[in-house]
Amino acid sequence: MTKKHVLPELPYPYAALEPYYDETTLKLHHTKHHQAYVDGLNKAEERLAEARMSGDFALVKHWQRELAFHGSGHLMHTLFWKNMTPNGGGEPSGHIEKHLIESFGSVEAFKKQFAAAAAAVEGSGWALLVYSAGLKGLYITTIEKHQDVALIDGLPLLTIDVWEHAYYLKFQNRRAEWIASWWNLVNWADINHRIEH
Ligand code: MN
Repeated sequence: MTKKHVLPELPYPYAALEPYYDETTLKLHHTKHHQAYVDGLNKAEERLAEARMSGDFALVKHWQRELAFHGSGHLMHTLFWKNMTPNGGGEPSGHIEKHLIESFGSVEAFKKQFAAAAAAVEGSGWALLVYSAGLKGLYITTIEKHQDVALIDGLPLLTIDVWEHAYYLKFQNRRAEWIASWWNLVNWADINHRIEH
């Protein structure tokens, strides 16, 4: 039994972001578009649960893409709503100001790069400011297609490289054999450490 995701309430009334964000668009965006991502995520999780029960993974590629598309869409919209407030704008202060200056030189420079990156995104996409724990800093990243990205807020725990360079000399085109072999190497203690810290 998978748990159902639900559309989160907006933290403000639909008209509260006027005149910067009009009531009609915001209401449609939230009640129709975001709802569709929630519904799609629930459906993908149901189908994947069914596949685990039946052992039939024939459509796993399709439902993993649906999961990434709708799951990331749900998470990104939830973040987007919370990133806005009727009392917003102005200049950042505190930790975020300090980190923006460290990573981009100045708040102004960050804003210019963020706006340029957002303007250059093709199709249905996003510009996103992220903190990378691995690279230790703030970075701007862009997303052009939900279905082509990993689930957006996933904390990396375990990965397998399935590009050919990772296994080709021994396994050639037999990727499934590489994956089967790799399970014998997995460091579960390392993964436990990552999830606990
Ligand atoms: Mn949207």
